[in-house]
Amino acid sequence: MKCCLVTAAVATDFEDPDDAATRQVREVAAEPQLGILTLAAVLDQRGMAPRIFNLDRAYYEYLVDQRSRSVAGFARWAASRIASSGADVFGFGTICSSYPVTLRIAGHLKREAPGCDIVLGGPQASIVATETLAAFPFVDFILRGEADQTLPLLLDELSGKRRLSAVPGLSWRSPSGIQRNADAPLIEGLDSLPLPAYGLTGELDGAGGASLELGRGCPFGCTFCSTNDFFRRRFRLKSPERMLADMRAIASRFGIRSFRLIHDMFTVDRRRVAAFCDRLIQSGEEFAWSTSARTDCVDEELLGLMARAGCQGLFFGVETGSPRLQKVIEKGLDLDRARAAIDTTARLGMSNTVSLIAGFPEETWDDLRETMDIYMHTARHPGSHPQLNVLAPVAGTPIHARYQHQMVLEELCSDMSHQGRIHNQADRDLIRRYPEIFPNFYLLPTPGLDRAACLELREFLLAATARLRWLLVALHRSSTGILDVFLLWRRHRLALHPGLSGGSLRHYYIQPVFRRDFVGFVRRKVARFDSPAVRALLDYQEAFLKAETSDARLPRKGCTPARRLRASDKPVRARHVHVLQLDWDIQAVIDSLKAGQPAAVRQPVFYRTGLTPDDDIRLIRISPLLARALETCNGRRTVQACVTDLADCFAGSTTLRRYAAGYLLKNLLAENLIECRR
Ligand code: SF4
Repeated sequence: MKCCLVTAAVATDFEDPDDAATRQVREVAAEPQLGILTLAAVLDQRGMAPRIFNLDRAYYEYLVDQRSRSVAGFARWAASRIASSGADVFGFGTICSSYPVTLRIAGHLKREAPGCDIVLGGPQASIVATETLAAFPFVDFILRGEADQTLPLLLDELSGKRRLSAVPGLSWRSPSGIQRNADAPLIEGLDSLPLPAYGLTGELDGAGGASLELGRGCPFGCTFCSTNDFFRRRFRLKSPERMLADMRAIASRFGIRSFRLIHDMFTVDRRRVAAFCDRLIQSGEEFAWSTSARTDCVDEELLGLMARAGCQGLFFGVETGSPRLQKVIEKGLDLDRARAAIDTTARLGMSNTVSLIAGFPEETWDDLRETMDIYMHTARHPGSHPQLNVLAPVAGTPIHARYQHQMVLEELCSDMSHQGRIHNQADRDLIRRYPEIFPNFYLLPTPGLDRAACLELREFLLAATARLRWLLVALHRSSTGILDVFLLWRRHRLALHPGLSGGSLRHYYIQPVFRRDFVGFVRRKVARFDSPAVRALLDYQEAFLKAETSDARLPRKGCTPARRLRASDKPVRARHVHVLQLDWDIQAVIDSLKAGQPAAVRQPVFYRTGLTPDDDIRLIRISPLLARALETCNGRRTVQACVTDLADCFAGSTTLRRYAAGYLLKNLLAENLIECRR
């Protein structure tokens, strides 16, 4: 019996090929799906030689590399590619955000290969198994919960006597109706699982990092969280020896020394976290890793040990800054302790991803104001990634059970469920028809908030934190808080662009026009946020926008990646290099904001812009000489003319001065700060 496993899609949220092609989307889509890869390894051990079909790779092949095709045809195209594997059984992994497209593909597949068996597994299908079998006759089986032991059992039965009632965790259709076998036992000894079958897919070839499963299950019971149902709140960890062996195996096979260690909540058991860190330190391997933690399960000593063991990043789900809501959602975090954990993590050189949620039914503006305070507290650490998501009522969660009859469907839904600008119409039709299967695309009632403002707040923060982080921090400090600044801005934005909503609103915030509009808004209202830090950062933003506009007009025709300058070449600043002259020491302003003491130092300073490894813009202080040299390279003057101009900046004989000016230009070229027009 031949089996083909199909991953859950991530990139299919993005129907526009340009959106799908961004580095951020490609990175998320390239994440190996550990569930499917572990199942493949289990089947491989049994000699079943499974195939894996990666839906994200297929989507890129279909959409980005072959732009002539319509997105609407992807499901049918993918189904025919999957069918061509000739398998007898197709096992689909499922997650809530791409469940509609997974089901559409499965439907087309059944039409292409009517004799095949279609099995769904993973978190989403497990939770809505009975509803899915009732609504979609082409789905034959749903294997609920952890399938590492039950999938081989099911495949044995499908190739043998088909005693389906003997497979734990299986939901299936019998002549008398839908059957739901008893749950399968959880896998207690996770060390018994094989290393995910990375070799089958080639996902780690040339990759900078790898994901590895560190354990499963979280014992807490937050009312919005879906992991409780799937792993039944049973906390389990792989042993330190096993983790180390897997990391070493990946390092030796793929040359990878950086790992994302996946666990819903690693830091539940302090003793075991310490044992893991001690083992890594003893090994002397110096692997880099990141993982998830609760802020009340770590302290300075443990964080220090984690940092020494190679931990470089922590994901903290703080969810809300409101002590009242912490109780309502049964998260129960002490928020002072959360702030301290965020600060300590940053001080130890680790990055923070702090996840926050807006849109709880019981939430008020005051609660959201407190959440924004945690957001901005995190944002003032440069390596941090604060996130605000709008709540999605995921099936199987207590919050969904309570509010399922009050959900509303709007053009934009939670970004946890859909991040694209356009929502596929066929998916929307399914979502509208089956709210019980796809509730995560709906929104909850929020009588104490304006839902449209919450959705826009998320888009605003995502864009503004990426491009205007320190201006946001300064505004937060010099006002009643960033939420009030946003509400004021939103009134301004509605007057400027009244017709934006849904996908067009999302699009607006990722365009350069948002930055210009927002900087213009702050300039108009600057008296309201009167602080030197706001003025300094506003000047910087305006200078940057001006330089960007004027540099866009520099001639670039004939630019070539030259290694040497010829006298007749016309050097021009590289596209990402703008020269700014400011009256403020911006680094001093940022340092004071980081330290929580808004201040600004007036002092004329030259800067140039550069790119971070993530292609973000950074500001680099430069000497007046370097500023002048870069300004001279405007694509209109020859090297000879630039040398003549710059020679004035040096002392000595004419020959010596010209030599120094030429040497300076050569260095600019070597550092990729200028290009050459020939
Ligand atoms: S939100 Fe985090 S702490 Fe709460 S149940 Fe889910 S994984 Fe556990």
